[in-house]
Amino acid sequence: METRNCLECSDRLIGRIDKKFCSDSCRTSYHNKNNGIEIQSIRFIDSRLKRNRKILMDCFLEQNVFDSQIELRKILKKGFVFDFHTHIEKMPNGIEYQFCYEFGYSQLGENQIHLIKQQPY
Ligand SMILES: [Zn+2]
Repeated sequence: METRNCLECSDRLIGRIDKKFCSDSCRTSYHNKNNGIEIQSIRFIDSRLKRNRKILMDCFLEQNVFDSQIELRKILKKGFVFDFHTHIEKMPNGIEYQFCYEFGYSQLGENQIHLIKQQPY
């Protein structure tokens, strides 16, 4: 018979074939750990999305308009990370904008982006 071991403490498992843990405490600590990793990665992505949103918002506030062109390097300098956005929407003008929450951007040429703010849902 195949030997199976507890997923948490690696102790040998005795009993039912579908058993994965030697005890309730091992089951609990295994699941807590995995939830912790999940929460960590959610936090990591959330913090980047929120930072991106804040950078776009700051650019709007600086320009004091809700439809503006800004230099790409300006948001990069502030720490904007293009990999993180919440959704993509095609605007009536046919151009796709990537959004960080209510702020969207699309690239205009090499050095400029166009920023828009979406009305709340
Ligand atoms: Zn165990």
